[in-house]
Amino acid sequence: MSISQKTLRSEISCSGIGLHSGAHVTMTMRPAAPDTGIVFRRTDIVGGGVELPARWDLVTDTMLGTTIGNADGVRVATIEHLMSALYGCEIDNAVIEISGPEVPVMDGSAAPFVFLIECAGVQAQDAPRMALEVTKPVHIHDGDRSASLLPAPVFSVEYEIHFESEAISRQSCLFHLVNGTFKTDICRARTFGFERDVNKLREAGLALGGSLKNAVVVGMGGDKVLNEEGLRYEDEFVRHKALDCIGDLYLAGAPIRGLYRGLYAGHALNNQLLRKLFAEKDAFRLVPAEEAPHGAWDVPPLSVAEA
Ligand SMILES: [Zn+2]
Repeated sequence: MSISQKTLRSEISCSGIGLHSGAHVTMTMRPAAPDTGIVFRRTDIVGGGVELPARWDLVTDTMLGTTIGNADGVRVATIEHLMSALYGCEIDNAVIEISGPEVPVMDGSAAPFVFLIECAGVQAQDAPRMALEVTKPVHIHDGDRSASLLPAPVFSVEYEIHFESEAISRQSCLFHLVNGTFKTDICRARTFGFERDVNKLREAGLALGGSLKNAVVVGMGGDKVLNEEGLRYEDEFVRHKALDCIGDLYLAGAPIRGLYRGLYAGHALNNQLLRKLFAEKDAFRLVPAEEAPHGAWDVPPLSVAEA
């Protein structure tokens, strides 16, 4: 059965600080007409109403988060956790008004945004939802980091990370994004950082809003999490990478039907992967989105190209 596009039932606001800028911002999510997509609007820019569609080809920076911008240098940074929540709540159309240069970090996860969207309510619209079906493997790598999209019956995310840190070490995950998996298994995973990097980042003008309230911080020795409350999931680190990737891939402009496989990948590779996908016209097609099929799904084996 095909499904319809969705937007918010009513507008809803929140305020907070940006993880990197430390800037205090107010953000309002508003309903939008069918086929609008997700559009950011910087309300603090003189003249007002500068609009930035949340699209892969408007990504201007991927260093420690995903930033979109236009030719005039108007930017919105760290959009990935909000985009991930919008994907998870199946919101196709929304205008995100924001009074500063960066989405508020909230608690470092996507859960507060999911809560806001659920408070606002979700409204079905009179237009069919389209999905982006991956029809051919697309692969990108940078040294030992890689990211791939492969044909698969539902959107699935497989991720592996490895850090020289006892607290993280090697972690992997595989999630099929069906039946509320995003809400139960992914959306609460927080962003993370290392105490040893904090001074370096701050000198570079980054992580100015970061604290134990909105990030998991691994201590100097690399073996301990400094947050008193501990972790939300045993493998919260790799789950957060899955959360990031879901938000980054939602910049495709439609939900993806296919398997994402990331090996030590991050925002930069995720964006390059989308650029490569859209450059290969036979690698995808737009199809009416459908309810996820029931049953188990085979995960394609690693291909020679990926090995
Ligand atoms: Zn993140």
